[in-house]
Amino acid sequence: MTTTTSNKAFLSIHELSKKFGDFVALSDISLEIYEGEFVCFLGPSGCGKTTLLRAIAGLDMQTTGRIIQAGQDISVLPPSERDFGIVFQSYALFPNMRVAKNIAYGLENQTKQSRSEINSRVEELLALVGLPEQGTKFPSQLSGGQQQRVALARAIATSPGLLLLDEPLSALDAKVRAHLRHEVKALQQRLGITTIMVTHDQEEALTMADRFVVLSDGRVEQIGSPEEIYQQPQTAFVADFVGTMNFLPATVQADGVEVGGVKLDCDLAGINTAPGMTMAIRPEDFNFAISEDTDGNQWPIEIHYVEFLGSFVRLGIHWGADDSIRAYADVSANLYRRLGLHQGETRTVNLPSEHIRLYPAGRKPL
Ligand code: ATP
Repeated sequence: MTTTTSNKAFLSIHELSKKFGDFVALSDISLEIYEGEFVCFLGPSGCGKTTLLRAIAGLDMQTTGRIIQAGQDISVLPPSERDFGIVFQSYALFPNMRVAKNIAYGLENQTKQSRSEINSRVEELLALVGLPEQGTKFPSQLSGGQQQRVALARAIATSPGLLLLDEPLSALDAKVRAHLRHEVKALQQRLGITTIMVTHDQEEALTMADRFVVLSDGRVEQIGSPEEIYQQPQTAFVADFVGTMNFLPATVQADGVEVGGVKLDCDLAGINTAPGMTMAIRPEDFNFAISEDTDGNQWPIEIHYVEFLGSFVRLGIHWGADDSIRAYADVSANLYRRLGLHQGETRTVNLPSEHIRLYPAGRKPL
């Protein structure tokens, strides 16, 4: 969480939709973004993330709906009259201009600053993005990560109210990308600039965002903090898209569900139950460290599969008639060693009822 986030809506989107011919790319999008917040638009390819970002920038006008920024209705303003800086995936630097000139571009065209004021602002920005003394190089003389820092410096040069990032790190290799994530986030917090980033990389979103807007088929599925989205996904789509999730066929009974012949207690209050449901369980919510004090659901499972993944171990477990229920369970490498878990053995597993989520049936089990 940033300390700069306020409860004042800086950007409000009202019932926005976008059609390309007959194709509905965005449908009835309403959301608010607060001052100083870092929001990620997250969702699978084609869900409308970029279309929504481009509508906010005025690069692709919405078909219907309104956009209010800092109290002003910007719905029909051209991009040049909106207050944002943007960074694209493909750097989009001017190849024939030196780095300093690239950064100065907006300052020269949109402000009335003197040459010496512009020069000192460019120096300041180069230092801010960790590229002091690189101003005389051409973009082609920089690495991809450095070029993206220049693009960032250029985007924030005029101190816009809104920073738009369209998959800014996805063209970079994994190590540079992980490093830049933290730098971009730290810079955003230092400047307190309201930021929207489009990404389909959930790990990136988890490390950078204050809130997610999860989109699917041009609609908002859920808006919330990373913790809320991960721990309380409101739809099976969100549960599936963010993190790893087991989806298991469940039958509703009094005070719980039956899964593969095992009765599991869980709270059914507020759930729109049908006889057949899908139970969603995070792999890390299966508990193998059972003591006399362990509460809640416990039943025997067989470990049929073990995969070492560094700091944790992923177990394939099954139970039920003909081993019909198959799920992943994650345990830390330390716990795995301490409990001496092995492929082929039967163990008791515990599942606290608060980790059980139920959705309408229709998801395929693993
Ligand atoms: P990705 O992660 O692949 O970039 P996205 O979520 O950003 O995907 P958009 O680029 O917003 O998706 O596209 C949303 C939908 O709108 C897609 O089905 C896309 O094919 C369609 N679309 C986008 N731009 C146009 C266009 N100019 N003309 C027609 N259809 C378009």
